Amino acid sequence: MAMTKETLIALVALQEKDKVLDARQKDVDAVPPRIAAVKSDLAEEKKRMDAAKAKTLELEKRKKSKELDAAAKEEAARKHGGQLNDVKSNDAYKALQAEIAKEKAIVGDIETEILQLMEEIDTSRGEEKALAAELKKIEEFSKSDLEKLEAELSHAKGEHAAAKAARDAAAAPVPADVLRVYDHIRSRGKPDAAVPVVDGHCGACQITLAPSLVAEVAKLKSLAVCESCQRILYKPEHVAAAAA
Ligand SMILES: [Zn+2]
Repeated sequence: MAMTKETLIALVALQEKDKVLDARQKDVDAVPPRIAAVKSDLAEEKKRMDAAKAKTLELEKRKKSKELDAAAKEEAARKHGGQLNDVKSNDAYKALQAEIAKEKAIVGDIETEILQLMEEIDTSRGEEKALAAELKKIEEFSKSDLEKLEAELSHAKGEHAAAKAARDAAAAPVPADVLRVYDHIRSRGKPDAAVPVVDGHCGACQITLAPSLVAEVAKLKSLAVCESCQRILYKPEHVAAAAA
């Protein structure tokens, strides 16, 4: 594949533009995860709020059920109280009295449990209220954070588009066959597709290059690639002279 000084200079210039484009791509890619993190934090806070609400509801349900239990026992004690006059024997009277006392004791126990539940419900409602206030604050912060991030993303996309246009303009003077090799190397995870030869070594993988290859690079007639990492090799002086 033919190589000229003009092509080499254009290729190295293109690589500089690609470096900028890669950086702009990173800027664009960095924003969506931050947007997702803000949304996920908000969702977590909502989940905590929902859990607190569910806890209060559950406690209220338990209180309602205990109230029904107490009412049933009270009703039983009342009914047994009414039966006391109809009892014929002293033993049966005593047994019924004991039964009524047991029922009343159970009602007392249930009422204690209801009082405890009422305290728990108060605490849970307090937690709910605190979480609601926190959620409101986080919602406000999230809204402003998301607006900022959307603006940042939009700006990053604009910068990326400009870098892409500059890159495409820089690619125009590079011959198609050289460009194909260059793009292929970059697509293999080597963004520095063209590297200088430094003291007879590949500027990227540092392997010692064959003297014949170094001579080929110096001649600047054909496209030379590193035998080890396959990157395009060039002599820094060829490019430095152009830059100066
Ligand atoms: Zn190499």
